[in-house]
Amino acid sequence: KSVLNPTLYRPDFPILGRQTNSGAPLVFLDNGASTQRPHAVIDAMSECYSKYYANVHRGIHTLSEESTDRYEQARRTVARFLNAASEVEVLFTAGTTAAINTVARTWGDQNVGPDDYILLTMMEHHANIVPWHQLSERTGCKVLFAKLNSEGQVDQEHLDSLWQQYGQQIKMFAFTAVSNVLGTITPVAAWVQQAQQHGAATLVDAAQAAPHMAIDVRQWDADFVIFSGHKLCGPTGIGVLYGRESILDAMPPFLGGGAMINTVTTEGFTTAALPDKFEAGTPPIVEAIGLEAAIDYISAVGLEAIHDHEQVLTRRAHEGLAGIEGLTILGPQDPALKGGIVSFVFPHIHAHDIAQWLDTRGIAVRAGHHCAMPLHKDLGISASSRASFYLYNTVEEVDSFVQAVSEVTQKFAPTGRKRRRRK
Ligand code: PMP
Repeated sequence: KSVLNPTLYRPDFPILGRQTNSGAPLVFLDNGASTQRPHAVIDAMSECYSKYYANVHRGIHTLSEESTDRYEQARRTVARFLNAASEVEVLFTAGTTAAINTVARTWGDQNVGPDDYILLTMMEHHANIVPWHQLSERTGCKVLFAKLNSEGQVDQEHLDSLWQQYGQQIKMFAFTAVSNVLGTITPVAAWVQQAQQHGAATLVDAAQAAPHMAIDVRQWDADFVIFSGHKLCGPTGIGVLYGRESILDAMPPFLGGGAMINTVTTEGFTTAALPDKFEAGTPPIVEAIGLEAAIDYISAVGLEAIHDHEQVLTRRAHEGLAGIEGLTILGPQDPALKGGIVSFVFPHIHAHDIAQWLDTRGIAVRAGHHCAMPLHKDLGISASSRASFYLYNTVEEVDSFVQAVSEVTQKFAPTGRKRRRRK
């Protein structure tokens, strides 16, 4: 039984009161893609625009000073949220994708050569694959993938063998803390230690972790930890790149322009200190203020309570789906090993058909490869359907989801619409 009562929080989210095209009340189970926003976030952003908005850092006038104070206060709030040693370790970016690209471009170009390897896992999001492929195109380095076992976890023996085989040629181990498809929670601190023993840097994609569990970057001890605002009730257009201060200091800047410089001459430029060095141009000011409101909101609900609540919902979904013939849940079968993500497949019903059917019941899920094509290929499938939970989802919603999925088998079986949309 959950200690968190979602019905207390649902009124905070105006969008949850709407209906879908079918006329059914909305059951929003697409939180892995993006969550919804409470009034606290919408109001904080609206208040900024209506009361004290101006560009930050440059103006010596009341509004600019107020905006700057609030923008920097948001940075301190994020630093506290992550237990970072210093707020200069918190950089605002456009999102997880932008943050990983920043690391690959700056740290990568500086530290990786043609004989080197980047180590990933088979369950990474494209945002944590493609920037490394691009680094490989620029430098000639190679990208390695740690395989998964049949439980949907990284096969630790294979991981060990990669470290043994490639050792210090692996310059970076970049991995997700929670798989956006399987829900698998990875052993972040242990993997960081293993990488450190081989002198490799570490990057943790916490896009699916930061919204759902308390993060302590000092306990993880990774060099980079990254997440997006929009997956934890915050705005789109903002994400966080946490970096260890000594490493950020040694990295060259990425985007050049205003704010990231000390001086500019016709001959060249000198770079500003952290964090400005990585925040060229006008930053996402209002988004940072919205992000702070979101962090305050979910912190008040409690990250542990959110995690425990999602465990209850995930367990309920697993139990319900287990009774549906032909359905396979991807990843760990034990909900205790997962975040609040339940992806599943039927052998002869396409994921898009399932999502469309659920939509007629008001239920929003995601269908497709979820930006994890290598994982789907590895699993021998082209697509899956995914329900993903957040603090405002109820047990009743999970039950209507399970009920609607069970109707799918009657609707599309026995002949099914075989592979109609598969390529
Ligand atoms: N990594 C993971 C694990 C994700 O789930 C996502 C979002 N689906 C991303 C990276 C990319 O995040 P964004 O689209 O906010 O840049």
